[in-house]
Amino acid sequence: MRLWRLLLVLLFASGAEFARATTVVLERVVCPACEHDFVGSAFGSWFQRGDPNPDLTNSLFSASHRFESCPYCLYSTLRDDFDTKLAKNRRGEIRAALAREPIDLKPLPEAALKAVRAKPDVAASAVEFRLAQLCAPEPGDAIKQIERALAAYYSRGDLPGLSEEGRTLYVETASRAFAEDSVAAKHPVLFYLLGEFQRQAGQTEQAVVTFSRVLKLGLELRDEYLATWAKAQSKLAQAGNTKIVSREKGENAEDTRNGVLKKKLPEFLAALKRGRPSREWSLPAGKDVPAKFRLSTTLGAACSLAKEGHSPACEYIVGVLAQGDASELEEWFISQGIEALAHHPELAAEAVKNAKFRVAVVGEAARYAVQGGAVPALTTGFLAEKQKWSPAVSAVLRAARVRGDVSIKPAIFARLGGKRAYEFLSDSRWYLSELGAPEDLPQLVKLAERTSLRRQEEGWDPGWSERGEFEDAMRSIRLRAVIRDLARAR
Ligand SMILES: [Zn+2]
Repeated sequence: MRLWRLLLVLLFASGAEFARATTVVLERVVCPACEHDFVGSAFGSWFQRGDPNPDLTNSLFSASHRFESCPYCLYSTLRDDFDTKLAKNRRGEIRAALAREPIDLKPLPEAALKAVRAKPDVAASAVEFRLAQLCAPEPGDAIKQIERALAAYYSRGDLPGLSEEGRTLYVETASRAFAEDSVAAKHPVLFYLLGEFQRQAGQTEQAVVTFSRVLKLGLELRDEYLATWAKAQSKLAQAGNTKIVSREKGENAEDTRNGVLKKKLPEFLAALKRGRPSREWSLPAGKDVPAKFRLSTTLGAACSLAKEGHSPACEYIVGVLAQGDASELEEWFISQGIEALAHHPELAAEAVKNAKFRVAVVGEAARYAVQGGAVPALTTGFLAEKQKWSPAVSAVLRAARVRGDVSIKPAIFARLGGKRAYEFLSDSRWYLSELGAPEDLPQLVKLAERTSLRRQEEGWDPGWSERGEFEDAMRSIRLRAVIRDLARAR
């Protein structure tokens, strides 16, 4: 409770002036079910590109109202419910349920299940939602129940059917809990959201009543979003409008940028081939924007188009990678550009074959990404602690993940057990999250436990972030196993 209040204050305090960066604070968390500690994270500030929506999705508030899973046993609940105690018999029941295979999850709606099969990467949060139902503590505190219902709405994982389910749950629980004005007045945001969800669910008359109570109660923060939204959403409800405000607002700018680049690509490719300077093959973005920043924006857009399978974007990436020398090529672009090529190797194959790369290791990494075959020596050398880390190493690790190349998994584990190399952590975490299997869990547990969270509570140790990465990989592997069982069971 304390945590989300603090976050909420931050959200509203930021008002229309949005925080410029998202900061994440690492915290030691103890699981009430298996009593293992792990690295949890909390948001210190939040970056967003536009107003939060009236249901507060795409906000710091929704980010903090999510289910979280213990990497050691998959106990799942609200972040604030960790570090608390469970009744002994309830703990036993939950442990038994989590140990059962396949985990007995209430079936997902058919539409959601289809999406789980098609997009396992977005299914994880939906499964966390189911696990959180399985792990629910004994019924008690009404506000706690409302918060869980809200997390069900926010944890939809973009899977069809789940947000509606979470919304229905929210309206049911919150209508009961907020029948009394005295209770409602203590939880202005949660109470406002009841009105918004009633409106979305087509209960427009009830929504109008809730919004008028929100305003009448003279709730705190009335000059901020809440009062404005309560008035605006009430008008929508009165007009019978149940439309959900787009959650994709922040993404629109990106879509537009990608669209502009698509049109420009033939011209850019021609300029690249003629060896023209970068201003002739990057997007203009305001007159005061430095060239370097313009170029990163363009390259970022090209990477996202290439991942979608846009062939000229693949060719463009190859062109930039081949032409740049070591000082011009930005580190992130070497790894991300090459990773993007690995998503649709056939689209870049010809361009890579014909390209003359000025930096040899970049060429090797690009060839590995589109042609496969043996992992380039620079990367195997790094894994054997014979070479230093470099962006080309990162590019190969990312491409290996996308290609599903498990041949280097043993070497990755060996390297993780060796001398600490923080640059390598995030790539290896993503690799193991996707290509790790349940039989890899004992090795990950061993690696994670290299850094004790108990001894270092006094000060922040960089080992914590390392442990957090390993624990993230463990969590992903476990969730994927549940998803696989779930898909098989139907
Ligand atoms: Zn646990």
